[in-house]
Amino acid sequence: MIKTILGDITKVTDVEAIVNAANNLLLGGGGVDGAIHKVAGPELLKECRTLHGCETGEAKITKAYNLPCDYVIHTVGPIWYGGSHNEEELLANCYYNSMKLAMEHGIRKIAFSSISTGVYHFPVEKAAHIALETVSQFLKEHTNDFDLVEWVLFDSHTQSVYEAELKKFM
Ligand code: ADP
Repeated sequence: MIKTILGDITKVTDVEAIVNAANNLLLGGGGVDGAIHKVAGPELLKECRTLHGCETGEAKITKAYNLPCDYVIHTVGPIWYGGSHNEEELLANCYYNSMKLAMEHGIRKIAFSSISTGVYHFPVEKAAHIALETVSQFLKEHTNDFDLVEWVLFDSHTQSVYEAELKKFM
């Protein structure tokens, strides 16, 4: 099942893993990354320090500490420079690599944030299309491995864009 919800990803209780829109250093930051580290507590930063960063488009996994889920998958979305710097492929890689890592850990229920559409300024319509296309293709190739993929969106405009895109893939 794929769905979108309006809310705070640090509060979702129906998934085993949440996907953080992190940065290359993996040492916390603003936006959703800051919110996740704040709720998870300082142990998360301690574990992140052992990972030595993450390349754009790649994903790494940690425990979730004080968050209500089991794992945090940290993926680094591309900064939008106008579209000619491989941004679309890099964002697709974020979703593909996060799903792959989840599957390798037996995670069947996963919640994504809207990667790259905050301070990284990726246009929401394009990002939502890439997100839904990449994940629905992954689910087609791994039909029995997931029970739930959801996007937890922080504002109603972003949610309406993802919801419209979701309808195209249902
Ligand atoms: P990026 O640097 O990848 O653009 P941001 O954290 O700036 O990441 O923004 C990504 C999206 O996450 C934005 O839509 C932002 O509104 C949203 N966001 C911020 N805080 C939260 C939260 N607590 N839960 C879910 N989404 C959030």
